[in-house]
Amino acid sequence: MQFRIGNGFDVHRLVEGRELFICGVKIPHSLGLLGHSDADVAIHALCDALLGALALGDIGKLFPDSDPDFKGIDSKILLRKVCEKIDAMGWKVVNADITIMAERPKFRPFIDTMRASLADVMQISADCVSVKATTTERLGFTGREEGIAAMASALLCR
Ligand code: MG
Repeated sequence: MQFRIGNGFDVHRLVEGRELFICGVKIPHSLGLLGHSDADVAIHALCDALLGALALGDIGKLFPDSDPDFKGIDSKILLRKVCEKIDAMGWKVVNADITIMAERPKFRPFIDTMRASLADVMQISADCVSVKATTTERLGFTGREEGIAAMASALLCR
């Protein structure tokens, strides 16, 4: 059996007047993430981890923000497209692990819903999808609540 590992990282700015989507789940919050798509920073990091495992570039290359087709798009659709690409190459996702860095809101009540959401899109068991959240101790742009960052790792096999 062959294995490939990938990692991904993404940041989006927090602004007023946008809804907050993380891991495909709408989270009640006074601020949302700014972006061409729904700005789901965690899904973007996950897509980059999956693409990185197969050295396929990144989501900016696959889904350019200059393309009006992707304006406001649900990032779950982007993740689905990435998974279809992986499937077509004969690879399967073994597991994925995501860390969200944000001062607020508290994500704990939503973690299992997020795992189920991602597992559903990737068509794998929720046991194989880990979502964690951490503050950065009020340090840096995440600590000042100027933005949210996410990192992800993914393992593929065939
Ligand atoms: Mg992004």
